[in-house]
Amino acid sequence: MATYGQKCGNCGEPLTPRGGLPSRFCPRCGCRLPTSPVSAPGNVPATARRVSAPAIASLVLGILGLPMGCIPFGLAAIFLGMYAHGRIESSRGRLTGKGLATAGIVLGIISSGLWLAICAGAL
Ligand SMILES: [Zn+2]
Repeated sequence: MATYGQKCGNCGEPLTPRGGLPSRFCPRCGCRLPTSPVSAPGNVPATARRVSAPAIASLVLGILGLPMGCIPFGLAAIFLGMYAHGRIESSRGRLTGKGLATAGIVLGIISSGLWLAICAGAL
């Protein structure tokens, strides 16, 4: 059986998480416990990295918007791409897909431009 693997450095009391969360103070002597190194920022294992969902959605909308010359798809792709950029920037390396988001923004601008060109041609 896998134990939580932490003991109080002061009294040696084995520590078990309560209510799903690891306790921050020893239940026996009440001393403060060192926080887990896993929660330290910038210490993200490669397996925990994933592609940002809004970045994928932005690219898909950008591609879909192109043949249609459809401005709602294009605008959605631009906003989703920008949103994804912000999320990726603040994720401290947990989210990837910046290239996808950029491609989504570019495709969104092109499809919106296409729509405007069609509109201008129709007038
Ligand atoms: Zn203790």
